[in-house]
Amino acid sequence: MLEAKEVTVLFSARGIVIPAVDEASITAEKGKIIGLVGESGSGKTTLLRVLLGLQKVDKGEVLFNGENIFKLKSRKLKEFRRLNQIIFQDPFDSMDPRFRVYDIIAEGLRYHKIAKDKNEEKEIIYNTLEEVGLHPADKFALKYPSQLSGGQLQRVAIARALALNPEIIAADEPVSMLDVSIRASILNIFINLKQEKNVGFVIVSHDISTLSYISDEIYVMYMGRIVEKGNVDEIIEKPMHPYTQALIASVPVADPKYKIEKIPIKGEISYDHFKYGCRLYPRCPFAMDICAKETPPLIEVSPGHYVACHLIKR
Ligand code: SF4
Repeated sequence: MLEAKEVTVLFSARGIVIPAVDEASITAEKGKIIGLVGESGSGKTTLLRVLLGLQKVDKGEVLFNGENIFKLKSRKLKEFRRLNQIIFQDPFDSMDPRFRVYDIIAEGLRYHKIAKDKNEEKEIIYNTLEEVGLHPADKFALKYPSQLSGGQLQRVAIARALALNPEIIAADEPVSMLDVSIRASILNIFINLKQEKNVGFVIVSHDISTLSYISDEIYVMYMGRIVEKGNVDEIIEKPMHPYTQALIASVPVADPKYKIEKIPIKGEISYDHFKYGCRLYPRCPFAMDICAKETPPLIEVSPGHYVACHLIKR
């Protein structure tokens, strides 16, 4: 289990200190897909980097199977890195264009000494390529990144992570740069890996409809804070935070059962109110006096469904 507990990350911008992540907690585990949604500047990518130990925290801690990841030393840290993999938004950027697909995947296998010999290494690489839908594997193994489409490259990125037998794969906007026509096929790979290999995922996206398709749980972030979280059906069918409602109302839906009234969230993220009160205060049509003064805590409104809004009564 990989959990960030009340983590805060401070960034400095134009002479002021901004909490890019503000007392946020998130738990990832094997066999579950967590969706983390928010607009640009919400802190979702920073929180993802925190979970993987790629970003230091100013407050809070990140535990992997109960151990603080920022205190792990050489061997355990290496094992943590193997078990918790990342897939980036632009797969081309994350691959050395001089390497063939075979060597791109083999690099991690060799670093972590996973295969006992060359034959086993080849078997793992071919099997993994087949698993992500790149077949015949021997043909794809010989290609260079420049010879592959965006969708095929993202499959290679998934294969590279998968070959290391990870517990958790974190993916930052994994389909946003791909053609709409192939997005579902990549998302289906995540679902299959969850079901067949018990891999856990944390998927960051600005698109709640993408996340509703694959996630078991959704966390909604706004200006560094988790404002709502819960089971995907609860979040999509009964969103309670005005920001979540606005996100969902902005997605066109065919079934009127899921249609919710449009919430007019105006303007853009502003840090004028980042110290006190609800971060959505300047944009929220339901804002009250208390919203400018007190930060609403996350309250459990039904089992596993949490909302941070003063409209919610304790
Ligand atoms: Fe709107 Fe107030 Fe709720 Fe924030 S706490 S979302 S400002 S009603």
